[in-house]
Amino acid sequence: MRITIFGSGYVGLVTGACLADVGHDVLCVDVDADKIARLNEGEVPIYEPGLEALIRQNRAAGRLRFTTDAVEAVAFGLLQFIAVGTPSDEDGSADLRHVLKVAETIGRHMTQYRIIVDKSTVPVGTASKVERVIAAELDGRRLQLPFDVCSNPEFLKEGAAIEDFSRGSRIVVGTESERVRSAMRECYGPYNRNRDKLMFMGVRSAELTKYAANAMLATKISFINEIANLAERLGADIEEVRHGIGSDPRIGYHFIYPGCGYGGSCFPKDVKALAHTAEHVGHPAEMIAAVERVNARQKSRLFEMLCQAFHGQLTGRTIALWGLAFKPNTDDMREAPSRALMEALWEAGARVQAFDPEAADECRRLYGERDDLVLAGYRDEALEGADALVICTEWKAFRTVDFEALRATLREPVVVDGRNLFPPESVKAAGLAYYAIGRGDSV
Ligand code: NAD
Repeated sequence: MRITIFGSGYVGLVTGACLADVGHDVLCVDVDADKIARLNEGEVPIYEPGLEALIRQNRAAGRLRFTTDAVEAVAFGLLQFIAVGTPSDEDGSADLRHVLKVAETIGRHMTQYRIIVDKSTVPVGTASKVERVIAAELDGRRLQLPFDVCSNPEFLKEGAAIEDFSRGSRIVVGTESERVRSAMRECYGPYNRNRDKLMFMGVRSAELTKYAANAMLATKISFINEIANLAERLGADIEEVRHGIGSDPRIGYHFIYPGCGYGGSCFPKDVKALAHTAEHVGHPAEMIAAVERVNARQKSRLFEMLCQAFHGQLTGRTIALWGLAFKPNTDDMREAPSRALMEALWEAGARVQAFDPEAADECRRLYGERDDLVLAGYRDEALEGADALVICTEWKAFRTVDFEALRATLREPVVVDGRNLFPPESVKAAGLAYYAIGRGDSV
């Protein structure tokens, strides 16, 4: 099949590379000329495990191409995927500017039947808006061309995106059209062999499914963080509690890790957008609003712990920070807890020496050169001359630590662990004060 994908970010690139890999002819288009030039030189602008090899192989096979040429892009694919960003607007709603711009482009250049596939995460009712924009463009051109718009939300996780795309639990498609159903079956056929993962439903249900999924996952995180904060005050250990509840199959172990709050490009904006939608339809979503409030509070926990450790005196301190990305195996720092911490530390007059296996370039891009930020080249370099260590991201490389050596390196014996990576006894045995999430009197 010939497939066009608008947007060559995390979702567009993974979708494009994976669909090319199963034999489709894919053309990826982006308005960022620099990004497309780099992709055409074989450089992959984001870090995602396995993506570089997949793009290289499929480019070499001639099944995957990149362009900025919208006219060529609209002419190319029967399926026109929209995978552009939908950031939060000022009021928390999803900003549909890029999605509707793509719709306008398609309407302006299409010359035959097209299926427009909304893969971006968009509020309920967006498919109708896309439809109206395309119809208006066609009207302006005095053309009556048939087209369909369907919703196909994406559930991949950064860091495991290729695996998720290829072996995800479901492929949701919102449409009422038999023609679309048949084209989407053909598109996803290679991923649909061991059981039927395609779930056809109404367009509005598909759109809401994506928000419901992310809101549910964010709820689990805020829930366990709430219980962790209680555990801290009640002298209980949240890690014991987590095991205690996770063993119940109705609850399960997934997504109940306490930590320093969720970040990333999806949960924060999608939770906000759902709350905004709820408000808009006259049903303020109490739970969703609480999930967001709990998360905002959780992101300030690490800074509070440092304040406690240093009796509020952080001016002139140097803090080693392990982990900048919002989670392991990505370089994405959008809404990362590390950012809330760094910004609070700078505000308090402290310096940060940070190490992340993949996100240093992104951090440089976000914050530029500044005197109070050093980006270390390797993990233990970040510790040199530091007063305390804080862990923000649970990269595998941070899990094994020689606590005696750590104690000897740090100027003050303070470890703040936003991911509960270590047995408290081991850290404390080395003479370090260990501040973790919800670990009661072990702290
Ligand atoms: P991204 O910011 O990484 O990439 C978006 C790309 O779209 C950028 O390269 C941008 O230049 C391009 N773009 C903007 N306007 C364009 C236009 N008019 N024509 C062509 N390209 C254009 O975003 P992302 O993380 O890939 O997310 C895309 C969508 O997928 C969002 O709605 C997001 O919520 C959703 N989503 C993301 C993830 C994830 O883990 N990142 C997972 C599931 C769903």
